[in-house]
Amino acid sequence: MAKSKNDLDLNPDDLHFIPLGGSEQFGVNFNIYAYKGKWIGIDLGIGFAGPELPGVDILLPDPAFLVERREDLVALIVTHAHEDHVGAIPYIWPRLRCPVYCTKFTAAVLRRKLREAPDCRDMEIRVVAPGDKVTIGPFEAHFIHVAHSIPETCAVILETPEGRVVHSGDWNLDPAPVIGLQTDEKSLSQAGNDGVLAYIGDSTNSNVDGRARSESDVETGLDAVFKDCRGRIVVTCFSSNIARIQSICKAAQANGRSVAVVGRSLHHMVGAAKECGYLNDLPRFLEEEEIGDIAADQQVYIVTGSQGEGRAALGKIAHGQMRHIRIGKGDTVIFSARPIPGNEKDIDALKNVLIGAGIEVIGSKDTSHIIHVSGHPCRDEVADMYRWVRPELVIPVHGERLQIEAQADLARKCQVKQVIVPHNGSVIRLKKGGSEIIDHVATGLLALEGKRLIPTDHPAIRERRKLQYTGSVHVSIVLDGRGDLVCDPQVTTVGLIDQEDKLEKRLEEDILDEIEDILADMQREDRRNDHAVQEEIRIGIRRMLNIVTGMKPKTSVHTLRV
Ligand SMILES: [Zn+2]
Repeated sequence: MAKSKNDLDLNPDDLHFIPLGGSEQFGVNFNIYAYKGKWIGIDLGIGFAGPELPGVDILLPDPAFLVERREDLVALIVTHAHEDHVGAIPYIWPRLRCPVYCTKFTAAVLRRKLREAPDCRDMEIRVVAPGDKVTIGPFEAHFIHVAHSIPETCAVILETPEGRVVHSGDWNLDPAPVIGLQTDEKSLSQAGNDGVLAYIGDSTNSNVDGRARSESDVETGLDAVFKDCRGRIVVTCFSSNIARIQSICKAAQANGRSVAVVGRSLHHMVGAAKECGYLNDLPRFLEEEEIGDIAADQQVYIVTGSQGEGRAALGKIAHGQMRHIRIGKGDTVIFSARPIPGNEKDIDALKNVLIGAGIEVIGSKDTSHIIHVSGHPCRDEVADMYRWVRPELVIPVHGERLQIEAQADLARKCQVKQVIVPHNGSVIRLKKGGSEIIDHVATGLLALEGKRLIPTDHPAIRERRKLQYTGSVHVSIVLDGRGDLVCDPQVTTVGLIDQEDKLEKRLEEDILDEIEDILADMQREDRRNDHAVQEEIRIGIRRMLNIVTGMKPKTSVHTLRV
């Protein structure tokens, strides 16, 4: 049973962990720890809404539980600058108002986001470096460098007298990263030697055997693919994947090609990267307007839109909506990114448009060369992590049931003493010799639509979803005091008929006849009662339409008395 804040009574001498987001779904990562009456948060990210939430693109974790305790919230730690870890901060932080700890690159990305968030103007960002140990309230946070598909990613080791917790964030064991170092095995093993109570970590690829390959393999792979291209090359990747941008640039350079970066989020990320000293030893990026002047076989575009988003650069290019960029027969588009689960249809639709225009499309499965590697650990890498940190307890987070259960299974196979599979809202007491789920708190998702944040179960969204399937009918009638029609009722339908088709238009006339029949059948006394009139007509129209069309559209009736 979900409880509200006042029901949760924790022993302040115990250490507790509660995942508030990310332990049911991809994205919306939001985790909190409690000790000595103080709270610390780790990550606050967004997720993407599916078609079940019409009109909504972005999802955020509902922070209500923590907002009610914000007096005791000592910090929010951000492990890295991916949207699913940092993206919700501009919207949620004004309700939390605590110091934010992150590395320099993450801070650079965050500050760019905050330019459009006036309510975050007084946010205090405390920049840490990998290796730093910082005392935050009753916690000591040790920042550990891990390899991932974005620079300066950290795992966090939280130290308390009750025990040491390794909170992994996202990571992999890339043996040869092209930006930054390998995952800091030494510090993680040292934590293992000192004793780790719990490992709470990334499940994204826990159902994938083996190991993720290295980003340096991608550089080689792209170089090989580029060699076979005769026309323009367009590569789409996640804009935050700075290492990938560098790999593409190196492959371009090796093939005598210049590079232009296209898309707002790519420009943001490249700006943050350069500010932090990355990508600076590459040839100059050309402007969109400029690159068209050189020969087609010397052009490479790095563009946003790997997930098939219509409004991103690749979608616009495919539909000929970019003034300076035209591609066609003989050109190549390379997808150097994985599809986020749920986006496959959009991506295929985009590929169809490109292929239809005679463009060669290359995804990971279309070539023997490596053109993408995951930033997340596969099973052998997770097993390595267990060997280093030797946790008493494993709590898999970051994933859907499928991936979370897969990591739980792996932990059991690796002889980890205890495994706890969490749900969002599980209150887990972390204790040497036996941790357990002791309670459950309410969690939820907020939908960002336009400028407002509303719960995903908001009636407006429910209603919209219904409208999508059934359409709607609006009726206005004017009655006099005796309950007689003063003029013809007005009927408007939405999403029900073809307004240009005379035959279908007759349905609206049938509705008018139905209204008159209904009124004629009503007692005069009832016709004087607005509510009774509205209900009779609403129910009658729905019944009639159900018989005629098999649908029950949402129907609203307005009455006016003169
Ligand atoms: Zn990440």
